[in-house]
Amino acid sequence: MSATSLSVQDPSRVPDDNPLVEGLERLPVRSTVIVIFGGTGDLAQRKLLPALYNLAHEGALPDHIELVGIARRPLTDDGFRERAREAIGRFSRRAPDAAVLDGLLRGVHHLSGSFDSDGLFDQLQELLSELDVSTGRALNRVFYLATAPEFFAAIVDQLGRRGMHEHDGREVRVVIEKPFGYDLESARRQNHAVLHYLDESQVFRIDHYLGKETVQNLMALRFANAFFEPVWNRNYIDHVQITAAEDIGIGGRAGYYESAGALRDLVQNHMLQLLALLTMEPPTAFEANRLRDEKLKVLEAIVPPAPSEVAAMAVRGQYSAGVVGGSESPAYRSEEGVAADSRTETFAALRLHVSNWRWAGVPFYLRTGKRLSRKLTEIAVTLKPVPHLAFQSSGSVGVQSNQIILTVQPDEGVSVSLGAKIPGARMRIRPVNMEFHYGTSFLSESPEAYERLILDAMRGDATLFTRNDEIEALWGIVDPILSAWHADTRSPIAQYPAGSAGPVEAATLLEDGRAWRRL
Ligand code: NAP
Repeated sequence: MSATSLSVQDPSRVPDDNPLVEGLERLPVRSTVIVIFGGTGDLAQRKLLPALYNLAHEGALPDHIELVGIARRPLTDDGFRERAREAIGRFSRRAPDAAVLDGLLRGVHHLSGSFDSDGLFDQLQELLSELDVSTGRALNRVFYLATAPEFFAAIVDQLGRRGMHEHDGREVRVVIEKPFGYDLESARRQNHAVLHYLDESQVFRIDHYLGKETVQNLMALRFANAFFEPVWNRNYIDHVQITAAEDIGIGGRAGYYESAGALRDLVQNHMLQLLALLTMEPPTAFEANRLRDEKLKVLEAIVPPAPSEVAAMAVRGQYSAGVVGGSESPAYRSEEGVAADSRTETFAALRLHVSNWRWAGVPFYLRTGKRLSRKLTEIAVTLKPVPHLAFQSSGSVGVQSNQIILTVQPDEGVSVSLGAKIPGARMRIRPVNMEFHYGTSFLSESPEAYERLILDAMRGDATLFTRNDEIEALWGIVDPILSAWHADTRSPIAQYPAGSAGPVEAATLLEDGRAWRRL
């Protein structure tokens, strides 16, 4: 059916829909205009435009899509098109096909202006109306705020004051990048500002970790298999370790990192999201509010430390000079743009408890850091030891508690460790692993997180986005730690050599003979 035959008056009919291709759900996506605020920025060039290309390649985009980039620098439509072409060629996970790329870039526009200028938003309003007219129907609108956080509220305000948050019975959605808030207070203020014009159902706060296949597989593992859930509680689980280790430093982002630090950069969002998905009760449906209700409940069960408890529950560190991957690395305080007396943490480790019936007494240890010995994100669930070892007297050695390891990156998969008998006359036990690797089990490449998330935002499915109350609960957990660290301007920050596993002080968080897993 031709795209122009669609009646604008009948929003229930979606004849221009393009059912999604195999591998993705067959759900309709309406014709849409995507406006990227910050279209020339690093995120847009490295992630958003390549993600749009890959969606186009898979036939997952609607028949009709228009793309508007906004930035201060003066660019023509053609200039923006060429930048987009170059970015896609450079960063797409698959080599672009010329016909698909030309098709995607046909509907590309650029507006130059500053986010605080009324004139820019007048131009935008005019352009969006023209696109509706030239397309022959009112388009859904996705406003993607790929800008510094200080502009989020101001942009929504500009859109709202002009009534652009509503559109002729079509959907208007706003995707907001991270970080959402700097602390609990600022997150509340930002929620308040954004929800002044928008309904929560229109807001899509990104945490791109939730778009990763392995993170969603955590839910599949727990709720699509009968054998994990019965042991998923305080009776069988001894403790959990969540690691998000990076071998890279801060790159050229000293300005951002100096005011953020490891706790804000990774713990408040990604790591606590992993913890919530790992510990929440089973949702009744894989639906946005059902899932987020469960995450919220479990986040609210994590008791934030009182100021006097912070030192015993949280360790911060900073990398000193060292060697990573065979190359010399300077100390954090010697990196360009970093203050010589900086107290920003490049490493954070926490011990948290989930105070509810299922998890009472189980410690959750989280650690993240820059310039560690290798890049690894994993969740390691360690079960309690067996209550009685019948063959102990026969000289059994090497019996270890079972572990379930979920690797989020780099080698995505799940591994379960079991005790097995070493062949021979004696009853000697050794841990062996049962493994599942995404790469070998599914012969297709996983889509990038942003592909899934952009598509979900276009469809209005907020399941993998963070709700307003959830974001405040996340900040509520780290806020007392941030405050205590900020207030403490005297005690030395633990140092660790670049290329190591982090500061030795992190071991003080683990009780009862437990140890951090080797990096
Ligand atoms: P960036 O490279 O600095 O890009 C900022 C964009 O906004 C540019 O297009 C810039 O273009 C435009 N811009 C800046 N000030 C403007 C103004 N006053 N008026 C109009 N346009 C303006 O930033 P980024 O790295 O893409 O990050 C964008 C957002 O995504 C941030 O919130 C960041 O935290 C988040 N994020 C980024 C990444 C990443 O990998 N980069 C990852 C996760 C989250 P002009 O200079 O031409 O105006």
